[in-house]
Amino acid sequence: MADNVIVIGSGPAGLTAAIYLARAGLSPFVYEGFQSGGMPGGQLMTTGAVENFPGFPKGVDGQLLMSDMKEQAARFGARMSMEDVSGVDLSARPFKVTSMSGETKQCRSLIVATGATARRLPLESERRLWTKGISACAVCDGALPIFRNKPLAVIGGGDSAIEEAMHLTQFASKVYIIHRRDELRAGAIMRKRASEHPKIEILWNKVVEEFVGDSVLVSLRLKDTKSAQMSELKVSGAFEAIGHVPNTSFLAGQLQTSDTGYIVTKPGSTAASVDGVFAAGDVQDSKYRQAVTAAGSGCMAALDAERWLVRQGEQL
Ligand code: FAD
Repeated sequence: MADNVIVIGSGPAGLTAAIYLARAGLSPFVYEGFQSGGMPGGQLMTTGAVENFPGFPKGVDGQLLMSDMKEQAARFGARMSMEDVSGVDLSARPFKVTSMSGETKQCRSLIVATGATARRLPLESERRLWTKGISACAVCDGALPIFRNKPLAVIGGGDSAIEEAMHLTQFASKVYIIHRRDELRAGAIMRKRASEHPKIEILWNKVVEEFVGDSVLVSLRLKDTKSAQMSELKVSGAFEAIGHVPNTSFLAGQLQTSDTGYIVTKPGSTAASVDGVFAAGDVQDSKYRQAVTAAGSGCMAALDAERWLVRQGEQL
């Protein structure tokens, strides 16, 4: 028998959708994920204190926040499996969802909340010092005490890199933008803002060869892409802004995506290009990428799915 709704993903978007669906008596089934698009619980499992999620004046540990969301969804009857989805068939209803175990489940409606994975530099030192001075989100982490009044670096050259750098100027003593080319990819307005900001300095033609530090980041070893000359830059924080990859490979092109791979939803709604399929969170949002916006769109997707099922006259 087909489930009313399957949710793929257990980050803030997927679990918020599950809470709403479960409370509406729709008994959702959640594929929590395992490793192909990040761990169960999503991106907040990789961070420490979350200071901007409403309701926690003293901040909340990312892992604790996610385990509480999971408990809340389970309390109202959401069913969950810690597996990756390997494929879906959206060509006819009920939809088919196949997981890594090879099992195929059917559902009347589907919510895709599989997030997006931040691109990270493939360096051993990056893995070792991740969350100890290295982050991929200035809006999330820039205000943390370890970064206040310190020199910081943003790695990248697109619009997001400039946005991250501008945000960091509120806290940092200085912000270096490290770019591997001699021209920014960012648009003209952003380029102008960056070059005119008194706290921002752009280091052209540089790549990070190593993140240096024992317990926390203290400097970057940079290589000049033209002269191959090495240099050291003292910074207390480095923010990688080299793009995100939306986790959509299991969809095999069955939903419309943007040219950067994000699922396209109808304006003012979470409806994707196939009737009965909804998308929530970072997998459809290249702009805000925050836990609270992901949770908000998870709520929207649950309400959209519930109303869609009612409109179809589907047996609930
Ligand atoms: P995600 O959290 O990415 O969750 C995606 C889920 O989908 C995961 O459960 C994953 O396992 C699952 N999944 C992926 N592929 C599959 C598949 N094939 N099958 C089944 N499941 C799958 N935001 C803030 O608001 N405040 C912060 O302080 C903050 N700090 C951050 C720190 C770091 C280091 C990072 C990386 C991000 C931070 N963010 C923060 C951003 C925030 O984590 C994201 O915006 C938010 O988690 C997005 O939620 P989501 O549910 O859309 O996706």
